[in-house]
Amino acid sequence: ARQEAIAQVRGPGRTQDGVAVPLLANVGGPGDVEAALAAGAEGIGLYRTEFLYLGRRQPPRPEEQEEAYRAALDAFPGGPVVVRTLDAGADKPLAFLPPPAPEPNPALGERGVRLFRRHPEVMETQLDALATAAAGSSGRLHVMAAMVATAEEARWFAAACRSADLPSAGVMIEVPAAALRAPGLLAEVDFVSIGTNDLAQYCFAADRELGALSELQDRWQPALLDLVAMTVSAARAAGKPCGVCGEAAADPAMACVLVGLGATTLSMSPAVLPATRAALAGHTMEQCRFAAQAAREAPTAAQARAAARAHLPGLA
Ligand code: PEP
Ligand code: MG
Repeated sequence: ARQEAIAQVRGPGRTQDGVAVPLLANVGGPGDVEAALAAGAEGIGLYRTEFLYLGRRQPPRPEEQEEAYRAALDAFPGGPVVVRTLDAGADKPLAFLPPPAPEPNPALGERGVRLFRRHPEVMETQLDALATAAAGSSGRLHVMAAMVATAEEARWFAAACRSADLPSAGVMIEVPAAALRAPGLLAEVDFVSIGTNDLAQYCFAADRELGALSELQDRWQPALLDLVAMTVSAARAAGKPCGVCGEAAADPAMACVLVGLGATTLSMSPAVLPATRAALAGHTMEQCRFAAQAAREAPTAAQARAAARAHLPGLA
């Protein structure tokens, strides 16, 4: 029994009836890679690479980047390592790339892939460093861009990844336009990953840093669930993986709902991984599907949460 309990705490993510749902970690630097290993993560679902760039007067050298990427790949030889390319902008300004003009609304400015359109050399250096790291490791590297809004941007990024000889290119779905047009974006890439933090922020026009608007950022908001469901369905139809890497995956009941909708992997802070693993292990795929359906039919966030939980006994 003790062995079984340990296996459940440490083992791979799966539903009670044995459907595998790899549980991955969100990491923001080398220290978090250790925490991800300790929490029994099966890989990295979101490697935020901003730590390499922020607070620097010069861009990070390729060798320095390669070392960080290789360390992450080597830490998870069997599992996926999804690295997100630089997601900086006026909200996270870079000393060596000042914006050409002040941005009154940094969250709506030249962030993520948009900054790369202006400075493709920064992206190319990062993609080359990633390819070099992958070539020297047995890890399975996937690379994705942030703040992609259109299929055209997805195509542009995927082409850059191909030019750099990267094996797998994806995009985050965190702008409502991308969710609404998910089939078109999916046609351009190998996978997508839903970022519920920004998707909620942009769906409700509610600053994610503003506590006063927390009700609008509730992960159970029906409009957010609609965008998530649309994206997951499009990915299923395209036969391509769709993970969720926003904080929504850290809510055990929501994790079950996401799996019920068809998410193929979940990625979260290492600290909350064990609770999600236990929630999945305690429920069947059918229960997850019923919970998802019930949540989607509810008119308010509170009712969606309650409706889902009614199908997920044992969750606090
Ligand atoms: C998100 O937006 O949901 C996400 C995972 O990315 P970040 O929190 O780094 O913006
Ligand atoms: Mg984001």
